[in-house]
Amino acid sequence: MGSEHVPCPLCGRDSACSYRPGMYRLEAEPYGLVRCPCGLVYVDPRPDPASIARMYDDPDYYTDGYNLGVETENYFARRDELVRQYEETARDLTREIGRAGDLLELGSAGGFFLEGARRAGFRVRGIELSPQAAEYSKRELGLDVFQGQLEAAPMPPESFDVAYADNVLEHTTSPGRVLELLRGLLRRGGHLVVIVPSYVNSAYFRALLALQAVVPKRFLGDALLRILKLDPRGHSGKPYHILEFDRRTLEELVRRSGFEVVRVERSVPLPAHLFRVERPGLKVRVLRAVFLSLDRLMRLGILPGARLRLLARRP
Ligand SMILES: [Zn+2]
Repeated sequence: MGSEHVPCPLCGRDSACSYRPGMYRLEAEPYGLVRCPCGLVYVDPRPDPASIARMYDDPDYYTDGYNLGVETENYFARRDELVRQYEETARDLTREIGRAGDLLELGSAGGFFLEGARRAGFRVRGIELSPQAAEYSKRELGLDVFQGQLEAAPMPPESFDVAYADNVLEHTTSPGRVLELLRGLLRRGGHLVVIVPSYVNSAYFRALLALQAVVPKRFLGDALLRILKLDPRGHSGKPYHILEFDRRTLEELVRRSGFEVVRVERSVPLPAHLFRVERPGLKVRVLRAVFLSLDRLMRLGILPGARLRLLARRP
């Protein structure tokens, strides 16, 4: 088990302050978050490359605690629901950029977005680190997916119209390098879509942390403790999210990597299990209303987003 100290992956300075010590745990080793004066929050020291690679070899990666532990159902069990949802997402994308075309997804998981995009008229290829997920997408959906790192993927330069990275960039150690490689794979005028969670690096998270410091854990409820990575047994999650962006740091990174930012959309991920219930009780109705109101306020720009979606263009 090795760790390494790193300067800020966005600005290169080495003057970050402690932000959330002991947020994560990997093989009994605690890992904490620090915050750079540039605004980026990141894991430091972080697991070394070999230890990071081992985290993704874990066959439970997509089934255990997936999506911050907020979803109650296994990712693979949600296949039909997710493919339908992603087909809509991909149709919206064609309207937004004017057409379908060749699409590359970085971090294609089980291939559900790629399948949705294919149904919406895109020609699709994927890159996925998890051997289990890559194998699944090839076997079950017949998709063209390369298993491994982006650097090693045998993709011809300037061969895509869209590069899509949904919940991927926060997992990477050199996000600028990743975006530069994606830019090289895009044709001129091609589009980049980046979606990242943005709640740990936010006022909400600081408020939740303050709350859990003064309110006994048993009053906070399991869901909240999972989100804070403080499960009732005292274990926190693994350091999958190495980086925590906010709107400013994400835009800065994308611009530095040679893209023009077209727009940034803010929202909150809606827990699917809340919206699946056919005859919801009072508690579910209240929670739905809370999530929908938060989403509305974020989309209007009144609250900072818990999820950021950025659309950029290669000049
Ligand atoms: Zn920095």
